[in-house]
Parts: sequence; C-alpha cells; structure tokens
Amino acid sequence: MLKKPFVTKAQLEAICEKYPTPFHLYDEKGIRETARNLYKAFSWNKGFKEYFAVKATPNPTILKILHEEGCGTDCSSLTELMMSERCGIVGDEIMFSSNDTPAEEFVKAKELGAIINLDDITHIDFLKETAGIPETICCRFNPGGVFELGTDIMDNPGDAKYGMTRPQLTEAYKRLKELGAKKFGLHAFLASNTVSNEYYPELARILFNVAVEIKEETGVELSFINLSGGVGIPYTPDKEPNDIFVIGEGVRKAFEEVLVPAGLGDIKIFTELGRYMLAPNGHLVTRAIHEKHTHKEYIGVDACAANLMRPAIYGAYHHITVMGKEDAPCDHKYDVTGSLCENCDKFAVDRMLPKIDIGDLLVIHDAGAHGFSMGYNYNGRLRSAEILLKEDGSTEMIRRAETPEDYFRTLEGFNF
Ligand SMILES: *Cc1c(COP(=O)(O)O)cnc(C)c1O
Repeated sequence: MLKKPFVTKAQLEAICEKYPTPFHLYDEKGIRETARNLYKAFSWNKGFKEYFAVKATPNPTILKILHEEGCGTDCSSLTELMMSERCGIVGDEIMFSSNDTPAEEFVKAKELGAIINLDDITHIDFLKETAGIPETICCRFNPGGVFELGTDIMDNPGDAKYGMTRPQLTEAYKRLKELGAKKFGLHAFLASNTVSNEYYPELARILFNVAVEIKEETGVELSFINLSGGVGIPYTPDKEPNDIFVIGEGVRKAFEEVLVPAGLGDIKIFTELGRYMLAPNGHLVTRAIHEKHTHKEYIGVDACAANLMRPAIYGAYHHITVMGKEDAPCDHKYDVTGSLCENCDKFAVDRMLPKIDIGDLLVIHDAGAHGFSMGYNYNGRLRSAEILLKEDGSTEMIRRAETPEDYFRTLEGFNF
C-alpha cells in the first residue's frame, strides 16, 4: 500500500517554522479513527475494552485522547502507573501487565485499583505478602513451542520469558480462589507485530479453549480474556494492513463456537494494543543536513537512532518520504544516517529514493509507537520534542525537546 504522510509539504514547512527538527509528530485525527474502528470491530462484545500499551507512546496527551475514546492503559512499571494516575486513568481502567515486578510496583498497582496480571505462579505469594490479593486478578499464559498460522511460524513463545505454563495456570486459579479472589482474567501475548487478520482469532480460540478447561478443572468462570498486543502494521509498502473488522469478526466467530456453548458467553474481551493504535499515526520529521560521497552515497539527517531505535537494533524498515518529491523517480541509492558514533545508526540502507538536497524535509513513517519511547541518550544525544497535529490542523507541543541541562541534571559530585 502506498505510504502517504498525514501532512502536506506546505503544512510541514509551517510546522517547522515553529518547532525545529527533529521532532515526532502525531496525528490526532488518525489516532481517534483507529480507536473508534477498533471499538466498532468489537462492538459485538459487551464490555470490550482496549488498554493502550503505554510503553508504545508514553505521553499524557496521547493517553488522554485515547481515554476520551474509551481506552484505558496497560502499564508495566511504576512510572507508567504514575503517568496513568496523573492522567486520571485509575482503577479497573489500568491493566498492570508487568513481569519481574518489584514489590513497590505491585503495591502501587493495588493502591490504584489496577487489574493485576500475574506473569508467574510464584508471584501469587509475592503479591499476597507485599500488597495483598485483590478481588480481580489476571494470569498470563505461555503455551510454549512455536506459534504458527498455517505453515508460517509467527513467533517463539517457548523462548519467551513471559507467562505461566498450562498446568501452572490451573494451579494458579485454584490458589487465587482459595486466597479470596473473586473475578478472574486470562492473558497471552504470543506473537509480535503480526500482519495477518488470523492472529487474534487464532489466539482467541486457544485462550477460549483454555477458559472452558479452567471452568471444568477449577470451577472458576473467567470474567475477561485479554488478547494483549501483537496486532501489527505493515512497515513496508508492499504489505496490506490488517483489517480490524475482519479481525473482530474472526474473534466473534471463535467466541460463538467455543465460549457460548460452554456457558461462558459473558466473558469480556480486552486488548492491549500499542503499535496498531499509534505507529502509523506518528512521523519522525527530520531534515537532510549533509551529503557524503565515499564508498557509498550518504545523506546525513538531524535525527539519529536516539530518536528512533528500531532500524538500528532490529534492522527494521521504516518508509521514508522526501517531502515535495513524492512523485519524483526513486533513482538514487542512499544510506540515510544519523550522527551516532555507531555504524548501525542508519534509518535506511541502500534505499532507492528521489535525489535528496540539503535542507529537504524527510518524513520517517510509522514512528508513532515504540519510537520516541525507545529513545536514549547515547553520545549525549538528546530526546526530541513531540508535537500533536490536532484535528483542526493546528499544532501543540506535547513534550519539549530535552536540553543539555536535562542531560546533566542527574550528575552529582561537583558543581557542574
Ligand atoms: C508491548 C506490550 C503490548 C503492546 O504490544 P504491541 O506490539 O505494541 O501491540 C501489550 N501488552 C504487553 C504485556 C506488552 O508487553
């Protein structure tokens, strides 16, 4: 599918007069539409709720927009819990899907009334001793092995640190019931960034069958099933995006076939999407500041891997649009680089693009999730600003860029 920026060149030039590059730009309209379509796709399920994975885009303005569309938060650390609380998103609008959890984080989650999703059976006693067992509790499942769709291996749960084994699940629900828990959920995250309408329906079927077995084995009737994240987006233009309506319908079919006949038709479906909600609704905007002609052709930009780490650590493809040259022939082969003293700091390698001139604005697509949030300060590089493009076309800075003083703030030892 052709990837088009959600801003025009003229719009972006005007934005850049207000805010210097590089910055992350988010599209409020796109975010709201994505959330509304998700809710429509699952409207057949009473109680459906999306808990947005805060780690994907931890910005209060984004969380509040999503909250207005009915979404809660999926947190997994103390600061994510605190951010959610400060946004006024508390109680059962928080899913606490953590792992290797410090005691103080269970205490905070319990205090906020968050739904705690236990990653391990040993965490039952840990939680009992630190915060106490809440009325509502969720368990994370890991079936092991590989997760396949047809003949494609999608991911490798057997190698993943998360979740409990199938026998542990049964034991966990029994024990939690003994300890006074009243409402129960089941969660699993078995494959990441799936570009397939089959992932959620297949995962749902697995979890629905487990729910039926759990009822038979323990008498526990689950209240909700959390399909977690993993619905992905096509980073490359050759792939078709997921169709959330087909996905919702696929889950509904499994629900009707497995849960309804077992008398479990009241189970609520929850999701914890991050990438699907935000990735396409964010651009990293950067400017070409150097060209270099050596053994290869390089374009140096003013953003670097500290602003978007995925290409450097996963070799991930992010589509690039050279603004104003959308229709020019892609007849130049470039490496598009940042300034880190690391050769992996390249937004594109051997990418065919239109001829780039110094000063050109580049939009790096699909940076709205796991983009800014994975940023870091290597080489003393500073995190960029985050800008919201509002529905009326105006812009608002929703996080300022870091300054050198921010970077020096935690240093101690002499008067710096
Ligand atoms: C990262 C994560 C998510 C979100 O994953 P996406 O791939 O962004 O949808 C959801 N739940 C948990 C527990 C996660 O760790």
